[in-house]
Amino acid sequence: MDGRDGFVTGDIGCYAMGVGPAGFFQNRTHQCMGAGSGMANGFGQLWRFGFDQPVIAVSGDSTFYHAVVPALINGVHNKSNFVLVIFDNGATAMTGFQPHPGTELTAMGEEAQDISMENICRAIGARVEVCDPFELKATTATLLDLLEQKEGARVAIMRRTCELVRGRTEKHPYKMRIDPDKCLGDDCGCNRLCNRVFRCPGLVWDAEAGKTKIDEVVCNECGVCADVCPEGAIIREVAA
Ligand code: SF4
Ligand code: SF4
Repeated sequence: MDGRDGFVTGDIGCYAMGVGPAGFFQNRTHQCMGAGSGMANGFGQLWRFGFDQPVIAVSGDSTFYHAVVPALINGVHNKSNFVLVIFDNGATAMTGFQPHPGTELTAMGEEAQDISMENICRAIGARVEVCDPFELKATTATLLDLLEQKEGARVAIMRRTCELVRGRTEKHPYKMRIDPDKCLGDDCGCNRLCNRVFRCPGLVWDAEAGKTKIDEVVCNECGVCADVCPEGAIIREVAA
């Protein structure tokens, strides 16, 4: 939005999809757990050679406890310029929902004290902002603010329980449907923003009708896509 490009150092987790076509090749590096933040340390030093792209390292919550903390310490200590985005979904979702130190269970399933990631980050000396990624406008504003700071290691914790975890224990909060009279399909401004760009697998394209439709088998009725559609064609109704 300010004319700079952006350089995302990827990591291992659901968000690793960002390295391929499903993630529009946003992640420029992809190696092992914690490598995204380690690489951001280095790329965050290249401003002295004229590299002016904001550097964004991504990590999940499990990866953060597992392998990112040393890289964040190094980044703060050595004055690297990058934003670390932690997708805190309260789960090790990619490998089977194992507990980690941010959850209230030990590896054996016993009750345990969770370790606050924001306290760790602040103790290291990083600026920390916590937001709900389903609040799209507020999250965008927070991220832009962190990027505009330009200097130092900064942390955005995007906190929202994984929908697969929530769906196991709670009823679905919404009923979702598409209003076919409002859906403009290919003409909606971004050529199907919801299922071509946003790409939740619960939103599918009905080529015959030229409209988006909800796949009721896949959709977890989280409701966030209602805020994505510029036409208000995705209807979110509070479930009875
Ligand atoms: S539901 Fe909304 S975003 Fe999706 S194709 Fe229709 S108009 Fe576009
Ligand atoms: S309500 Fe949530 S799960 Fe369902 S299609 Fe929209 S974003 Fe996907």
